[in-house]
Amino acid sequence: MSSPTPIRQADVAAKEEPETPSGFVTPAPASPGHVSPDTGSRPSPAPAKKPGKARSRWLRLTSRAPEVQSSGLDELTAKRRAHLWVDNISKSFDGFKALNNLTLILDEGELRCIIGPNGAGKTTLMDCITGKTRPDTGNVYLIGKDRERISLIEHVEHEVAQMGIGRKFQRPTVFHDHSVFENLELAFGTERGVLNAIWGKPKAKQAEKIEEILTTIGLIDRRKDRAGLLSHGQKQWLEIGMLLAQDPRILLVDEPVAGMTHQETERTAELLKGLAGKHTVVVVEHDMDFVRSIATFVTVLHEGSVLAEGSMDQVQRDPKVIEVYLGE
Ligand code: ADP
Ligand code: MG
Repeated sequence: MSSPTPIRQADVAAKEEPETPSGFVTPAPASPGHVSPDTGSRPSPAPAKKPGKARSRWLRLTSRAPEVQSSGLDELTAKRRAHLWVDNISKSFDGFKALNNLTLILDEGELRCIIGPNGAGKTTLMDCITGKTRPDTGNVYLIGKDRERISLIEHVEHEVAQMGIGRKFQRPTVFHDHSVFENLELAFGTERGVLNAIWGKPKAKQAEKIEEILTTIGLIDRRKDRAGLLSHGQKQWLEIGMLLAQDPRILLVDEPVAGMTHQETERTAELLKGLAGKHTVVVVEHDMDFVRSIATFVTVLHEGSVLAEGSMDQVQRDPKVIEVYLGE
């Protein structure tokens, strides 16, 4: 059993820094008081009972379930800027436990990498966060600025997306016959974008925002080109740009560098590092060199649970991790 005392990431970083000059650079605005609990061994309460359907979403947003208050999570999140709390979720498929009492806390603005061997439950975890799959037990909470909690499992996928959780799947799904600029324009034209229109966001303002995104994703010179002409890596960046048009608070990115050239991989690392701080970024990735180049904090999944958490050096030294993953 590991100690229930949370590890301060600052302490971790201080120990690791000399060995990893290029990695583990915590984004400055993210969380000076970041505390990383040993979530794998922390017992969590039973999931909160679902409130009646008739209650408005906003009522639910601002109410705090008594189960939550008594769970110890208040104590846990009080010391940190928790943004997303995956609370003890389990999910079975035909009796097979894809997720098994998984608990995970993400801090506002952090860049988290989730790694683990095939079948560890990474995609199922993303599915449970985004409302694609509902866990059998446990809950997923989005934590707001006033520390109000939204139970995401009561919402379907598009509602979760509207709340500011953007997900990028492995395969880019850009519109090939439209220009790069038009793809971004289309990304504004969804529900959140419509809201912008209602509030009178002028077209010029949108164009300005698109230019800003084009610069961020490094495609400013390709703005007039058909998206179909872009390389695989550039299409991935465009899709990240399309997610940014939705102004997500949390960005979930599934295997962003699969199929990319070395140079594209490096640029993707820079892009994701640049997005952290402004957004909470979660990257599921298999490429260990890539993870090393971007990760401040790594969570290793195995058989649907958290096997280890810490800096890349810490988890790579962990015998449990070596056995199940890095040594495979
Ligand atoms: P990872 O993304 O880490 O490779 P997954 O979350 O995709 O792992 O899968 C975890 C386990 O759950 C795997 O054994 C997989 O076969 C199983 N699984 C995932 N989704 C389904 C599903 N819809 N039906 C049946 N089994 C599934
Ligand atoms: Mg997967």
